[in-house]
Formats: sequence, structure tokens, C-alpha cells
Amino acid sequence: MELEELNTLEKKYLAGTYGRQPIALVEGRGAVVKDSKGKEYLDCFAGIAVLNVGHSHPKVVAAVSDQAQRIMHTSNIYHIIPQLELAKLLFDVSNGYRSFFCNSGAEANEAAIKLVRKHTGKSEIIATENSFHGRSILTLSATGQEKYKKGFEPLCKEFKHVKFGDAEEIRDRISSKTAAVFLEPIQGEGGVIVPEDDYLGKVQKICEDNEILFVLDEVQTGFGRVGEMFAWQLYNVEPDIFTVAKALGGGFPIGAMLAKPEVMDAFEKGDHASTFGGTHIATAAAKASIEAILEEDLCQQARELGTYLIKELEGLKEKYGFVREVRGRGLMVGMELDFNGQDIVDKARERGVLINCTHDNVLRFMPPLVIEKEQLKMAVDVLDEIFEAV
Ligand SMILES: *Cc1c(COP(=O)(O)O)cnc(C)c1O
Repeated sequence: MELEELNTLEKKYLAGTYGRQPIALVEGRGAVVKDSKGKEYLDCFAGIAVLNVGHSHPKVVAAVSDQAQRIMHTSNIYHIIPQLELAKLLFDVSNGYRSFFCNSGAEANEAAIKLVRKHTGKSEIIATENSFHGRSILTLSATGQEKYKKGFEPLCKEFKHVKFGDAEEIRDRISSKTAAVFLEPIQGEGGVIVPEDDYLGKVQKICEDNEILFVLDEVQTGFGRVGEMFAWQLYNVEPDIFTVAKALGGGFPIGAMLAKPEVMDAFEKGDHASTFGGTHIATAAAKASIEAILEEDLCQQARELGTYLIKELEGLKEKYGFVREVRGRGLMVGMELDFNGQDIVDKARERGVLINCTHDNVLRFMPPLVIEKEQLKMAVDVLDEIFEAV
């Protein structure tokens, strides 16, 4: 199908909420994807940090097709064996958290906020400016960026926003009504904002001192992306609750809200549910994906290649005055420019490299963790050529 036709049909049949890049990807393996015209690209965005194990990882494909042939869905009215197996694996890799399964990041955050209310009997939550937590009315309320909220007010008033990175401001804003602090360990949509190394530790201490819950949104940072299975392991903290989605299913849609057992205990039968949550096929995919991350040591891979990528991008910063900053952890890397980066994204795509621009002027690199060093080098070389012509 030609691009023009796609645009016409989408206008006729779809809601029209997406501004799309002018390609349709139809095949993918590892870090390489192919469009409907047969052109190949190096994928340095991984479907928004979803394909940490790479496109169509053989283990995930086998798990999905095997499960699809047995049974795909029964609902949570019955025991679901693959769901239990995934929960046990998550318990093991998180050192003791219990899971509630849902289908997306926004749903995982909704579940977290319900658990916070049930556990504390309070509703006020401290979140951060410049954050992103999802598009439902409640998670939009938690989000700290006005551009997503315009036209959808009134939102839930129970969120107080503080500056990301400033733990003392959190201490100042806590009142007798405060139930929890809720934040991303590294802000993703906000432009890959990495806090000081001791920030999360300070926030955890403040939460403990004030007997409120410490909740992390790991929807983007989870599953090896930042060089550890979860970002809280990187920063040596232990949230009471954390949420995941994006990379959990290795490309299959699934989300989860995980909590320490004594916190999860506040949920009773009937308190929360989801028709599709933790369904056979999604949990089989997720289990296979996490096993692949462990077997292929992809956390270590993310650490090594992240260090390499940041060093190479720092090289471009030395060369080009319009590069303001390079920052990131593992393979979650941002490069802030003096100008809007969309034109760079377009030019890179034309040259066969998929990257993203977030927050207007931050180029974002989140390749599959299985990408090879030579492939990253090629992406940096393409960027160098483009920058040369700016
Ligand atoms: C993507 C994202 C969400 C929302 O996830 P959906 O699956 O799109 O609902 C929430 N929080 C963070 C940090 C995200 O990056």
C-alpha cells in the first residue's frame, strides 16, 4: 500500500490521534526491521523501549505460538498456570515482590494508586513535574506535563507536583493527608532526565520517616533497559510498590503492579480485577522474555553498550556546538539539542536508522538490548553525517 493511500484510509477509519512517521514496518529480527517496501532499518527505539529482547525473539515467538495452540484465555475466574509461573519469576528477580497483572502502563499505575489508597486510607500523592504516567484520567492527573492534559480537565486533584530531583521539596510538601510519593526513577518522556545518584535513596528515607508509601513507575526503565533488571536495583532502593509494562511481554501487551507482600495484603478479593490481566498468552510471552534477558545477560549488555554509546555521543557533543548534553543509564540515552530534533529523526530514518525525539529537543536512543556494538557505531556515524550538514 502506498503512503498516500494509508493516510487516506487511516483518516477514514481511525481516531486520528497519532502523528505517524511515513513508514509501515512489517518484519523485524533483533535490532533490524523492514518496511513494506523492503527497506531495512536499524531500530534504535525498540517500539518505545518495548523490544528489549529484540524483535520476534525466538523464545518469545515459541512461547506465544505454543500457548496459542493450547489455550489463549480463560479469565481470572479460573487458576491460570502461566500467570503463576510469571509471578514466581518476577518474585525471584525482584527479590520478593508480589504481582497484579494488567495490560498496559497506565493500568499498572491505576492499580498502584488504588493500592496506595486501600493501604493508607489516604488519597493525596506527591508526584513530580515533567513526569509521564499514562493517558487515563487518573494517570494524566499524576503526569506533570501540561501538554498532555489540555482539553481533558477537570482531572483528579489529589496530586501535588514537586521538582524532579529535589528530595527536600518532597519533605516540605508532605502533610497529614499524604499517602505516597510516586515517580519515575529516570524520567523518560520528560527527556531522559537522570537524577543525582543519591536522589531515590533520599526520597525513600523521607517516605520511611513520614510513614508514607514510596512508589516507582518503572514502565519505561524496567527489564534491563538501564543496566539492571529494574532501576531501583541500580539506585539501591526498595520501593513499596513499582509498576512495569512496556518491555515486560517482549512485544506482547502486558503490564504489572508489584508490591511488597505486606503492602499487597491491603488488597482483598474483589478489590481489583481485569478481564485480560495476566491472561495465558501474555504471561507466557513475558516469562519467555524475562528468561531471555537472564540467559543472554542483557542487563550486563545494556551497561556495556550504554557506556559505549554515551562515549560515542559525547564525541559528537565535542564536535558540534549545538549538542547541549548527553545523558542516560544503560541503553536509555538522551541527547539534548539547541533546536527541535524532529528533522534529525526524519533524516536518520531516510538513512536507515530509527531514533526518536522527545520533549521537542531531546533525541532518544533506546535500542533493543541485543543490538551489537557495530550497529550502534553505524547509528552514531549516520548521526555524525547528518550533524555535519546542519
Ligand atoms: C509509556 C509509559 C506509561 C504508559 O504506558 P501505556 O502502556 O502507554 O499505558 C506510563 N509511565 C511511563 C514512565 C511510561 O514511559
